[in-house]
Amino acid sequence: MPETRNLIILGSGPAGLTAGLYAARADLKPLILGGSKPYGQLMLTTDVENYPGFPEGVQGPELMDKFSKQAVKFGAEIILEDVMEVNFKKSPFTVKTASNSYLSKAVIVATGADTNWLGLESEQRLIGRGVSSCAPCDAYFFRDKKVIVVGGGDSAMEEALTLSKFATKVTVIHRREEFRASKIMLDRAKNNSKINFLTNTVVEEVLGKDKVEGVNLKNVVTGKIEKFGCDGVFVAIGHSPNTIIFENQLDLDEKRYLKVKGHTLTNIEGVFAAGDVHDHHYRQAITAAAFGCMAAMDSEKWLESR
Ligand code: NAP
Repeated sequence: MPETRNLIILGSGPAGLTAGLYAARADLKPLILGGSKPYGQLMLTTDVENYPGFPEGVQGPELMDKFSKQAVKFGAEIILEDVMEVNFKKSPFTVKTASNSYLSKAVIVATGADTNWLGLESEQRLIGRGVSSCAPCDAYFFRDKKVIVVGGGDSAMEEALTLSKFATKVTVIHRREEFRASKIMLDRAKNNSKINFLTNTVVEEVLGKDKVEGVNLKNVVTGKIEKFGCDGVFVAIGHSPNTIIFENQLDLDEKRYLKVKGHTLTNIEGVFAAGDVHDHHYRQAITAAAFGCMAAMDSEKWLESR
């Protein structure tokens, strides 16, 4: 039988590593199961200029390296294995990876959410080089430039409005005529003189070798493909929370995000949630880190009370 740990944290993004730091400093000796693609979405970004404490900015991977070193310094253990299965129905809880089985009194789920991408090879190659999924993080780099935003929901409108403060022209590319966005958000974007719309249009390819130089757009009604020059491509077609392995055990909302009450509590006592796996509203590194802190403090209190 494996030893029963105090706390296992699933996920190693800003939420998981901050939870690890706080739990380690509370002497809980937490184990962080970080996954085979560890350290979260900041690993896909270059300059991060909105994380407090770094007035000169910091590279996403460098910031996450600092997060993990700080957690380890105080006694957190990090193992980069993917969690395949959990059993939260029986205490201590079981967490299984491909090669190991772990037992824990408490668990923090911080498995995050992944950006939905278009799935084009050219898009993936140019992420961080003009392709982005976060206007609050990257809009600043597109001052006086021309950008497109792909999507027709509230996120796309919000990204377009953020970008309009910097870019000279923002074109929203949407695959059909009607928008999923709420009327208020759509109106706001429509009333912005820098934002225009191309509907019934999809991105076929992102152009450029080392940086974005444009896109090939296809009109889905006429089938016509045209080159469109731009410096940035913002993909805003939704996110998918990493919750598949918790189905039937933890309560999920209609978009499959974890449901929480009182900030970090799930429907199972002793299982806490932190970061983008439940928060589809803010989705920032700083807010995920804050949720990690809350989850660690809540789990410490819960463990103490038992
Ligand atoms: P969403 O509402 O699911 O919209 C996703 C958009 O992307 C849809 O227009 C969809 O097109 C399009 N899309 C999906 N897959 C695509 C693909 N492969 N190629 C091209 N287009 C694709 O997601 P969201 O905008 O991220 O919003 C998520 C939730 O957060 C919503 O409930 C939203 O209201 C909320 N939110 C609110 C605010 C706010 O109020 N300030 C801001 C952001 C988000 P179709 O319409 O054709 O399906």
